Amino acid sequence: MAMGEKLLNYIDGTWRQSSAAEYLDVINPATSDLLGRVPLSPAAEVGEAARAAAAAFVSWRRTPVTERIQYLFKLKNLLEEEFEEIARIITMECGKTIGESRGEMRRAIENVEVACGMPMMMQGDFSEDIASGIDEIMIRQPLGVAAAIAPFNFPGMIVFWFMPYALAAGNTYIVKPSEKVPLTMRKIFQLMERAGFPKGVVNLVNGSKEAVDAILDHPAIRAISFVGSTPVAKYVYSRGTANGKRVQAQGGAKNPIIVLPDADMEMSTRIAADSAFGCAGQRCLAASLAVTVGEARHTFTEAIADAAVARTVGYGLDEGVQMGTVINQASRQRIEGLIQQGIDEGGHPLVDGRGATVAGYEQGSFVRPTILQNVDPGSSLVKTEIFGPVLSLVHVNSIDEAIQFVNGGQYGNMACLFTSSGAAARKFRSEADAGNIGINVGVAAPMAFFPFSGWKESFFGTLHGQGKHAVEFFTQTKVVVERWPKEWSRQF
Ligand code: NAD
Repeated sequence: MAMGEKLLNYIDGTWRQSSAAEYLDVINPATSDLLGRVPLSPAAEVGEAARAAAAAFVSWRRTPVTERIQYLFKLKNLLEEEFEEIARIITMECGKTIGESRGEMRRAIENVEVACGMPMMMQGDFSEDIASGIDEIMIRQPLGVAAAIAPFNFPGMIVFWFMPYALAAGNTYIVKPSEKVPLTMRKIFQLMERAGFPKGVVNLVNGSKEAVDAILDHPAIRAISFVGSTPVAKYVYSRGTANGKRVQAQGGAKNPIIVLPDADMEMSTRIAADSAFGCAGQRCLAASLAVTVGEARHTFTEAIADAAVARTVGYGLDEGVQMGTVINQASRQRIEGLIQQGIDEGGHPLVDGRGATVAGYEQGSFVRPTILQNVDPGSSLVKTEIFGPVLSLVHVNSIDEAIQFVNGGQYGNMACLFTSSGAAARKFRSEADAGNIGINVGVAAPMAFFPFSGWKESFFGTLHGQGKHAVEFFTQTKVVVERWPKEWSRQF
Protein backbone atom coordinates (compact mmCIF):
# COMPACT_ATOMS: atom_id res chain seq x y z
CA MET A 1 0.00 0.00 0.00
CA ALA A 2 1.07 3.59 -0.59
CA MET A 3 2.71 5.30 2.40
CA GLY A 4 0.09 6.81 4.64
CA GLU A 5 -2.83 5.35 2.71
CA LYS A 6 -6.08 5.36 4.70
CA LEU A 7 -7.40 1.88 5.44
CA LEU A 8 -10.97 1.04 4.49
CA ASN A 9 -13.58 -0.99 6.33
CA TYR A 10 -15.21 -3.97 4.61
CA ILE A 11 -18.97 -3.90 5.20
CA ASP A 12 -21.75 -5.69 3.32
CA GLY A 13 -19.38 -6.84 0.59
CA THR A 14 -17.86 -3.43 -0.19
CA TRP A 15 -14.71 -1.57 0.87
CA ARG A 16 -15.83 1.69 2.47
CA GLN A 17 -14.01 4.76 3.66
CA SER A 18 -14.69 5.40 7.33
CA SER A 19 -16.14 8.70 8.47
CA ALA A 20 -13.79 8.54 11.50
CA ALA A 21 -12.70 11.87 12.96
CA GLU A 22 -9.38 10.32 13.97
CA TYR A 23 -6.84 8.12 12.16
CA LEU A 24 -3.78 6.50 13.77
CA ASP A 25 -0.46 5.88 12.01
CA VAL A 26 0.50 2.24 11.48
CA ILE A 27 4.27 2.10 11.89
CA ASN A 28 6.80 -0.63 11.12
CA PRO A 29 8.38 -1.04 14.59
CA ALA A 30 11.81 -1.93 13.17
CA THR A 31 12.21 0.68 10.43
CA SER A 32 9.75 3.32 11.68
CA ASP A 33 8.28 3.49 8.16
CA LEU A 34 4.69 4.65 7.95
CA LEU A 35 2.71 1.70 6.59
CA GLY A 36 -0.79 3.14 6.57
CA ARG A 37 -3.39 5.05 8.55
CA VAL A 38 -6.11 3.25 10.44
CA PRO A 39 -9.52 4.81 11.15
CA LEU A 40 -10.97 4.79 14.65
CA SER A 41 -14.38 3.97 13.25
CA PRO A 42 -17.42 5.45 14.99
CA ALA A 43 -20.15 3.30 16.57
CA ALA A 44 -22.43 3.94 13.58
CA GLU A 45 -20.09 1.93 11.32
CA VAL A 46 -20.25 -1.05 13.69
CA GLY A 47 -24.02 -0.62 13.43
CA GLU A 48 -23.82 -0.78 9.61
CA ALA A 49 -21.74 -3.96 9.82
CA ALA A 50 -24.14 -5.51 12.36
CA ARG A 51 -27.16 -4.73 10.18
CA ALA A 52 -25.45 -6.14 7.08
CA ALA A 53 -24.43 -9.27 8.99
CA ALA A 54 -27.94 -9.71 10.43
CA ALA A 55 -29.48 -9.42 6.96
CA ALA A 56 -26.95 -11.91 5.51
CA PHE A 57 -27.65 -14.38 8.33
CA VAL A 58 -31.14 -15.10 6.98
CA SER A 59 -29.85 -16.95 3.91
CA TRP A 60 -26.39 -17.96 5.24
CA ARG A 61 -27.90 -20.06 8.01
CA ARG A 62 -30.11 -21.80 5.43
CA THR A 63 -27.14 -22.47 3.15
CA PRO A 64 -26.31 -26.16 3.72
CA VAL A 65 -23.25 -26.66 5.90
CA THR A 66 -21.66 -28.68 3.09
CA GLU A 67 -21.87 -25.55 0.90
CA ARG A 68 -20.77 -23.16 3.64
CA ILE A 69 -17.51 -25.03 4.08
CA GLN A 70 -16.73 -24.73 0.35
CA TYR A 71 -15.97 -21.05 1.02
CA LEU A 72 -13.53 -22.13 3.72
CA PHE A 73 -11.82 -24.59 1.36
CA LYS A 74 -11.41 -21.69 -1.11
CA LEU A 75 -10.11 -19.47 1.68
CA LYS A 76 -7.62 -22.15 2.74
CA ASN A 77 -6.27 -22.33 -0.84
CA LEU A 78 -5.97 -18.55 -1.08
CA LEU A 79 -4.21 -18.38 2.30
CA GLU A 80 -1.71 -20.98 1.02
CA GLU A 81 -1.19 -19.06 -2.25
CA GLU A 82 -0.59 -15.77 -0.42
CA PHE A 83 1.17 -17.34 2.57
CA GLU A 84 4.52 -15.58 2.10
CA GLU A 85 2.92 -12.22 1.43
CA ILE A 86 0.77 -12.44 4.57
CA ALA A 87 3.80 -13.47 6.65
CA ARG A 88 5.72 -10.44 5.33
CA ILE A 89 2.87 -8.12 6.29
CA ILE A 90 2.77 -9.59 9.82
CA THR A 91 6.50 -9.04 10.26
CA MET A 92 6.33 -5.52 8.86
CA GLU A 93 3.56 -4.31 11.11
CA CYS A 94 4.19 -6.43 14.20
CA GLY A 95 7.98 -6.81 14.34
CA LYS A 96 8.34 -10.58 14.81
CA THR A 97 10.66 -12.67 12.63
CA ILE A 98 9.46 -13.97 9.29
CA GLY A 99 9.74 -17.55 10.63
CA GLU A 100 7.45 -16.64 13.53
CA SER A 101 5.00 -15.00 11.13
CA ARG A 102 4.94 -18.14 8.99
CA GLY A 103 4.32 -20.25 12.11
CA GLU A 104 1.44 -17.99 13.09
CA MET A 105 -0.23 -18.31 9.69
CA ARG A 106 0.24 -22.09 9.68
CA ARG A 107 -1.72 -22.21 12.95
CA ALA A 108 -4.39 -19.94 11.44
CA ILE A 109 -4.82 -22.23 8.42
CA GLU A 110 -5.06 -25.31 10.64
CA ASN A 111 -8.17 -23.78 12.21
CA VAL A 112 -9.75 -23.35 8.77
CA GLU A 113 -9.00 -27.00 8.07
CA VAL A 114 -10.56 -28.18 11.33
CA ALA A 115 -13.65 -26.00 10.81
CA CYS A 116 -14.16 -27.70 7.43
CA GLY A 117 -15.25 -30.74 9.49
CA MET A 118 -18.36 -28.81 10.58
CA PRO A 119 -20.87 -31.12 8.82
CA MET A 120 -19.98 -33.73 11.39
CA MET A 121 -19.03 -31.45 14.29
CA MET A 122 -22.43 -29.75 14.45
CA GLN A 123 -24.45 -32.91 14.07
CA GLY A 124 -27.24 -33.31 16.59
CA ASP A 125 -28.51 -36.22 18.69
CA PHE A 126 -31.58 -38.39 18.39
CA SER A 127 -33.19 -40.80 20.84
CA GLU A 128 -36.04 -42.99 19.70
CA ASP A 129 -38.79 -44.04 22.15
CA ILE A 130 -37.85 -41.96 25.18
CA ALA A 131 -41.41 -42.90 26.15
CA SER A 132 -43.99 -44.88 24.25
CA GLY A 133 -44.37 -43.26 20.82
CA ILE A 134 -42.16 -40.30 21.76
CA ASP A 135 -38.78 -39.38 20.25
CA GLU A 136 -36.34 -36.65 21.30
CA ILE A 137 -34.03 -34.71 18.99
CA MET A 138 -31.25 -32.21 19.68
CA ILE A 139 -30.39 -29.82 16.84
CA ARG A 140 -27.48 -27.35 16.78
CA GLN A 141 -28.37 -24.03 15.23
CA PRO A 142 -26.23 -20.92 14.66
CA LEU A 143 -26.72 -17.89 16.89
CA GLY A 144 -26.78 -15.02 14.40
CA VAL A 145 -24.12 -12.31 14.24
CA ALA A 146 -20.83 -12.93 16.08
CA ALA A 147 -17.76 -10.69 16.45
CA ALA A 148 -14.06 -10.93 17.28
CA ILE A 149 -11.97 -8.26 19.03
CA ALA A 150 -8.26 -9.04 18.56
CA PRO A 151 -4.94 -8.04 20.19
CA PHE A 152 -1.78 -6.85 18.43
CA ASN A 153 0.56 -9.78 19.01
CA PHE A 154 -0.85 -12.29 16.49
CA PRO A 155 -2.38 -10.13 13.75
CA GLY A 156 -3.20 -13.17 11.58
CA MET A 157 -3.81 -16.16 13.84
CA ILE A 158 -6.08 -15.15 16.68
CA VAL A 159 -9.17 -14.29 14.68
CA PHE A 160 -8.94 -17.83 13.23
CA TRP A 161 -9.44 -19.38 16.68
CA PHE A 162 -13.06 -18.27 16.23
CA MET A 163 -14.11 -17.03 12.78
CA PRO A 164 -13.90 -20.25 10.69
CA TYR A 165 -16.03 -22.13 13.24
CA ALA A 166 -18.57 -19.33 13.50
CA LEU A 167 -18.97 -19.14 9.73
CA ALA A 168 -19.07 -22.89 9.11
CA ALA A 169 -21.74 -23.21 11.82
CA GLY A 170 -23.90 -20.68 9.95
CA ASN A 171 -23.24 -17.42 11.81
CA THR A 172 -22.25 -14.18 10.11
CA TYR A 173 -19.24 -12.26 11.35
CA ILE A 174 -17.58 -8.97 12.25
CA VAL A 175 -13.84 -8.59 12.95
CA LYS A 176 -12.34 -5.64 14.85
CA PRO A 177 -8.56 -6.06 14.55
CA SER A 178 -6.04 -4.36 16.80
CA GLU A 179 -5.56 -0.78 15.64
CA LYS A 180 -1.80 -1.34 16.02
CA VAL A 181 -1.69 -4.07 13.34
CA PRO A 182 -4.66 -3.69 10.97
CA LEU A 183 -2.88 -4.54 7.69
CA THR A 184 -2.85 -8.32 8.07
CA MET A 185 -6.66 -8.54 8.44
CA ARG A 186 -7.04 -6.18 5.52
CA LYS A 187 -5.07 -8.64 3.38
CA ILE A 188 -7.05 -11.60 4.76
CA PHE A 189 -10.35 -9.87 4.02
CA GLN A 190 -9.20 -9.25 0.46
CA LEU A 191 -8.80 -13.03 0.24
CA MET A 192 -12.21 -13.62 1.86
CA GLU A 193 -13.68 -11.33 -0.81
CA ARG A 194 -11.95 -13.43 -3.50
CA ALA A 195 -13.26 -16.61 -1.86
CA GLY A 196 -16.72 -15.24 -2.70
CA PHE A 197 -18.46 -15.18 0.69
CA PRO A 198 -21.94 -13.70 0.08
CA LYS A 199 -22.18 -10.01 0.96
CA GLY A 200 -22.60 -9.24 4.64
CA VAL A 201 -21.39 -12.68 5.80
CA VAL A 202 -17.95 -11.32 6.78
CA ASN A 203 -17.29 -7.71 7.80
CA LEU A 204 -14.21 -5.81 8.93
CA VAL A 205 -14.44 -2.69 11.09
CA ASN A 206 -11.23 -0.95 12.14
CA GLY A 207 -11.09 1.03 15.35
CA SER A 208 -10.46 1.01 19.07
CA LYS A 209 -12.57 1.65 22.17
CA GLU A 210 -15.59 3.23 20.49
CA ALA A 211 -15.88 0.34 18.02
CA VAL A 212 -15.44 -2.21 20.83
CA ASP A 213 -18.13 -0.55 22.95
CA ALA A 214 -20.47 -0.53 19.97
CA ILE A 215 -19.91 -4.28 19.51
CA LEU A 216 -20.58 -4.85 23.22
CA ASP A 217 -23.85 -2.91 23.07
CA HIS A 218 -25.30 -3.71 19.64
CA PRO A 219 -28.49 -5.76 20.03
CA ALA A 220 -27.95 -7.73 16.80
CA ILE A 221 -24.58 -9.11 17.94
CA ARG A 222 -25.14 -12.35 19.85
CA ALA A 223 -21.62 -13.61 20.61
CA ILE A 224 -18.25 -11.98 21.20
CA SER A 225 -14.76 -13.48 21.25
CA PHE A 226 -12.14 -11.23 22.82
CA VAL A 227 -8.39 -11.69 23.21
CA GLY A 228 -6.21 -9.07 24.88
CA SER A 229 -5.08 -7.81 28.28
CA THR A 230 -6.84 -8.89 31.48
CA PRO A 231 -8.36 -5.50 32.44
CA VAL A 232 -9.96 -5.14 29.00
CA ALA A 233 -11.00 -8.83 28.98
CA LYS A 234 -12.83 -8.31 32.28
CA TYR A 235 -14.48 -5.18 30.96
CA VAL A 236 -15.55 -6.85 27.71
CA TYR A 237 -16.86 -9.88 29.59
CA SER A 238 -18.88 -7.85 32.11
CA ARG A 239 -20.38 -5.41 29.64
CA GLY A 240 -21.06 -8.01 26.95
CA THR A 241 -22.71 -10.49 29.31
CA ALA A 242 -24.68 -7.71 31.02
CA ASN A 243 -26.13 -7.07 27.55
CA GLY A 244 -27.16 -10.72 27.33
CA LYS A 245 -24.46 -11.86 24.91
CA ARG A 246 -22.29 -14.94 24.94
CA VAL A 247 -18.73 -13.81 25.65
CA GLN A 248 -15.44 -15.66 25.73
CA ALA A 249 -12.64 -13.32 26.82
CA GLN A 250 -8.99 -14.39 26.92
CA GLY A 251 -6.75 -12.19 29.03
CA GLY A 252 -3.11 -11.71 29.96
CA ALA A 253 -0.60 -14.12 31.44
CA LYS A 254 2.51 -14.56 33.56
CA ASN A 255 3.63 -18.05 32.67
CA PRO A 256 5.95 -20.02 34.96
CA ILE A 257 8.22 -22.83 33.85
CA ILE A 258 9.68 -25.13 36.46
CA VAL A 259 13.06 -26.76 36.01
CA LEU A 260 13.79 -29.83 38.13
CA PRO A 261 17.40 -30.92 38.72
CA ASP A 262 16.83 -34.12 36.69
CA ALA A 263 15.85 -32.18 33.53
CA ASP A 264 17.90 -32.47 30.34
CA MET A 265 19.57 -29.07 30.81
CA GLU A 266 20.70 -28.58 27.22
CA MET A 267 17.21 -29.24 25.83
CA SER A 268 15.43 -27.38 28.65
CA THR A 269 17.42 -24.17 28.28
CA ARG A 270 17.04 -24.17 24.51
CA ILE A 271 13.27 -24.60 24.84
CA ALA A 272 13.02 -22.11 27.73
CA ALA A 273 14.92 -19.48 25.74
CA ASP A 274 12.64 -19.96 22.73
CA SER A 275 9.62 -19.60 24.99
CA ALA A 276 10.86 -16.50 26.84
CA PHE A 277 12.42 -14.65 23.89
CA GLY A 278 10.48 -15.93 20.86
CA CYS A 279 8.20 -13.21 19.44
CA ALA A 280 10.24 -10.88 21.73
CA GLY A 281 8.26 -12.26 24.68
CA GLN A 282 5.01 -10.87 23.25
CA ARG A 283 3.19 -14.17 23.37
CA CYS A 284 0.47 -15.03 25.84
CA LEU A 285 2.24 -18.40 26.16
CA ALA A 286 5.71 -16.91 26.69
CA ALA A 287 7.64 -18.12 29.74
CA SER A 288 8.25 -15.12 31.96
CA LEU A 289 9.15 -16.85 35.23
CA ALA A 290 11.65 -19.71 35.49
CA VAL A 291 11.43 -21.52 38.79
CA THR A 292 14.52 -23.62 39.48
CA VAL A 293 14.35 -26.42 42.01
CA GLY A 294 17.42 -27.46 44.04
CA GLU A 295 20.58 -27.98 41.99
CA ALA A 296 18.92 -26.81 38.76
CA ARG A 297 19.57 -23.28 40.04
CA HIS A 298 23.22 -23.29 38.99
CA THR A 299 23.14 -25.34 35.81
CA PHE A 300 20.03 -23.68 34.38
CA THR A 301 21.06 -20.12 35.28
CA GLU A 302 24.38 -20.30 33.47
CA ALA A 303 22.96 -21.96 30.39
CA ILE A 304 19.96 -19.63 30.02
CA ALA A 305 22.21 -16.57 30.39
CA ASP A 306 24.37 -17.87 27.52
CA ALA A 307 21.28 -18.50 25.39
CA ALA A 308 20.00 -14.96 26.07
CA VAL A 309 23.27 -13.31 25.11
CA ALA A 310 23.65 -15.45 21.98
CA ARG A 311 20.26 -14.51 20.50
CA THR A 312 20.52 -12.49 17.28
CA VAL A 313 18.24 -9.47 17.44
CA GLY A 314 17.24 -7.46 14.37
CA TYR A 315 14.66 -6.75 11.69
CA GLY A 316 12.44 -9.78 11.27
CA LEU A 317 12.70 -9.77 7.47
CA ASP A 318 16.51 -10.04 7.57
CA GLU A 319 18.27 -13.40 7.27
CA GLY A 320 19.44 -15.08 10.46
CA VAL A 321 17.49 -12.85 12.86
CA GLN A 322 16.16 -14.83 15.85
CA MET A 323 14.26 -12.08 17.63
CA GLY A 324 12.57 -8.95 16.32
CA THR A 325 11.18 -5.81 17.93
CA VAL A 326 8.54 -5.17 20.52
CA ILE A 327 5.43 -3.48 19.16
CA ASN A 328 6.35 0.19 19.59
CA GLN A 329 8.47 2.70 21.49
CA ALA A 330 5.86 3.10 24.24
CA SER A 331 6.02 -0.64 24.85
CA ARG A 332 9.82 -0.55 24.86
CA GLN A 333 9.78 2.17 27.52
CA ARG A 334 7.23 0.27 29.61
CA ILE A 335 9.32 -2.93 29.45
CA GLU A 336 12.53 -1.10 30.34
CA GLY A 337 10.71 0.55 33.26
CA LEU A 338 9.58 -2.84 34.54
CA ILE A 339 13.14 -4.20 34.31
CA GLN A 340 14.22 -1.27 36.50
CA GLN A 341 11.38 -2.02 38.90
CA GLY A 342 12.62 -5.62 39.16
CA ILE A 343 16.11 -4.36 39.97
CA ASP A 344 14.73 -1.89 42.54
CA GLU A 345 12.90 -4.80 44.17
CA GLY A 346 16.18 -6.71 44.61
CA GLY A 347 16.51 -8.62 41.32
CA HIS A 348 19.97 -8.86 39.76
CA PRO A 349 20.23 -8.10 36.00
CA LEU A 350 22.23 -11.13 34.91
CA VAL A 351 21.63 -10.14 31.27
CA ASP A 352 20.36 -6.59 30.70
CA GLY A 353 18.71 -5.96 27.33
CA ARG A 354 17.88 -2.29 27.84
CA GLY A 355 19.14 0.45 25.56
CA ALA A 356 19.47 -1.94 22.61
CA THR A 357 20.34 -0.61 19.18
CA VAL A 358 20.58 -2.50 15.91
CA ALA A 359 22.79 -1.13 13.13
CA GLY A 360 20.71 0.12 10.23
CA TYR A 361 17.55 0.25 12.37
CA GLU A 362 18.43 2.96 14.85
CA GLN A 363 14.78 4.00 15.26
CA GLY A 364 13.63 0.42 15.94
CA SER A 365 11.77 -0.62 19.10
CA PHE A 366 14.32 -3.19 20.23
CA VAL A 367 14.74 -4.71 23.69
CA ARG A 368 17.34 -7.49 23.89
CA PRO A 369 16.77 -10.66 25.94
CA THR A 370 16.93 -9.86 29.65
CA ILE A 371 17.34 -12.13 32.65
CA LEU A 372 16.69 -11.01 36.20
CA GLN A 373 18.16 -13.30 38.83
CA ASN A 374 17.23 -13.78 42.51
CA VAL A 375 13.79 -12.30 42.03
CA ASP A 376 11.81 -12.38 45.26
CA PRO A 377 8.77 -14.67 44.80
CA GLY A 378 6.70 -12.10 46.70
CA SER A 379 7.79 -9.06 44.64
CA SER A 380 5.35 -7.11 42.51
CA LEU A 381 7.34 -7.90 39.34
CA VAL A 382 6.44 -11.57 39.78
CA LYS A 383 2.78 -10.60 39.51
CA THR A 384 3.11 -8.16 36.59
CA GLU A 385 2.75 -9.17 32.95
CA ILE A 386 5.77 -7.61 31.22
CA PHE A 387 4.97 -8.77 27.67
CA GLY A 388 8.56 -8.39 26.54
CA PRO A 389 11.72 -10.55 26.37
CA VAL A 390 12.32 -10.63 30.11
CA LEU A 391 12.76 -13.84 32.11
CA SER A 392 12.78 -13.63 35.92
CA LEU A 393 14.50 -16.42 37.83
CA VAL A 394 12.97 -17.60 41.08
CA HIS A 395 14.44 -20.37 43.23
CA VAL A 396 12.65 -22.92 45.44
CA ASN A 397 13.66 -26.14 47.17
CA SER A 398 11.07 -28.71 46.12
CA ILE A 399 8.48 -29.52 43.49
CA ASP A 400 5.74 -28.97 46.08
CA GLU A 401 7.03 -25.46 46.72
CA ALA A 402 7.21 -24.87 42.96
CA ILE A 403 3.60 -25.98 42.44
CA GLN A 404 2.52 -23.82 45.36
CA PHE A 405 4.26 -20.87 43.69
CA VAL A 406 2.54 -21.59 40.36
CA ASN A 407 -0.87 -21.92 42.00
CA GLY A 408 -0.43 -18.69 43.95
CA GLY A 409 -0.30 -16.67 40.72
CA GLN A 410 -3.31 -14.68 39.54
CA TYR A 411 -3.06 -15.93 35.94
CA GLY A 412 -3.53 -19.47 34.65
CA ASN A 413 -2.72 -19.42 30.97
CA MET A 414 0.18 -21.89 30.96
CA ALA A 415 2.58 -23.70 33.29
CA CYS A 416 5.42 -25.95 32.17
CA LEU A 417 7.66 -28.52 33.82
CA PHE A 418 11.07 -29.74 32.69
CA THR A 419 11.99 -33.12 34.10
CA SER A 420 12.93 -36.69 33.18
CA SER A 421 10.69 -38.09 35.94
CA GLY A 422 7.32 -39.48 34.90
CA ALA A 423 6.08 -39.31 38.49
CA ALA A 424 6.94 -35.60 38.78
CA ALA A 425 5.33 -34.91 35.40
CA ARG A 426 2.16 -36.73 36.42
CA LYS A 427 1.92 -34.85 39.71
CA PHE A 428 2.43 -31.51 37.98
CA ARG A 429 -0.08 -32.24 35.23
CA SER A 430 -2.67 -33.01 37.86
CA GLU A 431 -1.95 -30.31 40.45
CA ALA A 432 -0.84 -27.19 38.53
CA ASP A 433 -3.58 -24.54 38.26
CA ALA A 434 -3.26 -23.58 34.62
CA GLY A 435 -5.33 -24.39 31.58
CA ASN A 436 -2.45 -25.21 29.24
CA ILE A 437 0.30 -27.45 30.60
CA GLY A 438 3.67 -28.19 29.01
CA ILE A 439 5.84 -31.16 29.99
CA ASN A 440 9.30 -30.63 28.47
CA VAL A 441 7.50 -28.16 26.17
CA GLY A 442 7.92 -24.39 26.53
CA VAL A 443 4.99 -23.03 24.51
CA ALA A 444 2.08 -25.36 25.20
CA ALA A 445 -0.08 -24.00 22.38
CA PRO A 446 -3.06 -26.27 21.76
CA MET A 447 -3.57 -27.50 18.21
CA ALA A 448 -6.71 -26.30 16.42
CA PHE A 449 -8.66 -29.40 17.47
CA PHE A 450 -8.08 -28.72 21.19
CA PRO A 451 -9.47 -25.79 23.21
CA PHE A 452 -7.14 -22.90 24.07
CA SER A 453 -7.70 -23.46 27.77
CA GLY A 454 -6.72 -20.40 29.79
CA TRP A 455 -7.79 -20.35 33.46
CA LYS A 456 -8.16 -17.79 36.27
CA GLU A 457 -7.43 -14.18 35.23
CA SER A 458 -6.34 -15.42 31.79
CA PHE A 459 -9.88 -16.35 30.76
CA PHE A 460 -13.42 -15.17 31.41
CA GLY A 461 -16.19 -17.39 30.18
CA THR A 462 -16.91 -21.09 29.86
CA LEU A 463 -16.18 -22.24 26.32
CA HIS A 464 -12.75 -21.52 24.86
CA GLY A 465 -11.63 -20.88 21.28
CA GLN A 466 -10.83 -23.63 18.75
CA GLY A 467 -12.14 -27.14 18.14
CA LYS A 468 -15.24 -28.55 19.82
CA HIS A 469 -15.48 -25.65 22.28
CA ALA A 470 -15.80 -23.25 19.35
CA VAL A 471 -18.53 -25.39 17.81
CA GLU A 472 -20.48 -25.22 21.08
CA PHE A 473 -19.84 -21.52 21.53
CA PHE A 474 -21.14 -20.66 18.07
CA THR A 475 -24.24 -22.85 18.18
CA GLN A 476 -27.32 -23.07 20.38
CA THR A 477 -28.99 -26.34 21.06
CA LYS A 478 -32.65 -26.91 20.35
CA VAL A 479 -34.36 -29.96 21.80
CA VAL A 480 -37.48 -31.29 20.14
CA VAL A 481 -39.75 -33.83 21.82
CA GLU A 482 -42.15 -35.44 19.35
CA ARG A 483 -45.17 -37.63 20.05
CA TRP A 484 -46.60 -39.77 17.28
CA PRO A 485 -49.30 -41.91 18.93
CA LYS A 486 -49.35 -45.47 17.64
CA GLU A 487 -53.10 -45.26 16.90
CA TRP A 488 -52.42 -42.63 14.24
CA SER A 489 -50.38 -45.05 12.16
CA ARG A 490 -53.31 -47.49 11.90
CA GLN A 491 -54.77 -45.50 9.04
CA PHE A 492 -51.80 -46.58 6.78
P1 NAD B 1 -5.36 -4.82 24.65
O1 NAD B 1 -6.21 -5.34 25.75
O2 NAD B 1 -4.72 -3.49 24.82
O3 NAD B 1 -6.22 -4.71 23.29
C1 NAD B 1 -6.98 -5.79 22.81
C2 NAD B 1 -8.16 -5.25 22.02
O4 NAD B 1 -9.01 -4.49 22.88
C3 NAD B 1 -7.77 -4.35 20.87
O5 NAD B 1 -8.55 -4.66 19.75
C4 NAD B 1 -8.08 -2.94 21.40
O6 NAD B 1 -8.50 -2.05 20.38
C5 NAD B 1 -9.19 -3.17 22.39
N1 NAD B 1 -9.14 -2.27 23.55
C6 NAD B 1 -8.02 -1.81 24.17
N2 NAD B 1 -8.36 -1.03 25.22
C7 NAD B 1 -9.71 -1.02 25.28
C8 NAD B 1 -10.65 -0.39 26.15
N3 NAD B 1 -10.27 0.36 27.17
N4 NAD B 1 -11.96 -0.58 25.91
C9 NAD B 1 -12.37 -1.34 24.87
N5 NAD B 1 -11.53 -1.94 24.02
C10 NAD B 1 -10.21 -1.79 24.21
O7 NAD B 1 -4.28 -5.95 24.35
P2 NAD B 1 -3.01 -5.87 23.37
O8 NAD B 1 -1.99 -4.99 23.99
O9 NAD B 1 -3.44 -5.61 21.98
O10 NAD B 1 -2.51 -7.38 23.43
C11 NAD B 1 -1.63 -7.88 24.40
C12 NAD B 1 -2.38 -8.58 25.51
O11 NAD B 1 -3.15 -9.66 24.97
C13 NAD B 1 -1.45 -9.23 26.53
O12 NAD B 1 -1.98 -9.01 27.81
C14 NAD B 1 -1.49 -10.70 26.17
O13 NAD B 1 -1.20 -11.59 27.23
C15 NAD B 1 -2.91 -10.84 25.73
N6 NAD B 1 -3.09 -12.01 24.88
C16 NAD B 1 -3.73 -13.07 25.43
C17 NAD B 1 -3.90 -14.22 24.69
C18 NAD B 1 -4.59 -15.40 25.29
O14 NAD B 1 -4.81 -16.36 24.57
N7 NAD B 1 -4.93 -15.41 26.55
C19 NAD B 1 -3.42 -14.28 23.37
C20 NAD B 1 -2.77 -13.16 22.85
C21 NAD B 1 -2.61 -12.02 23.61
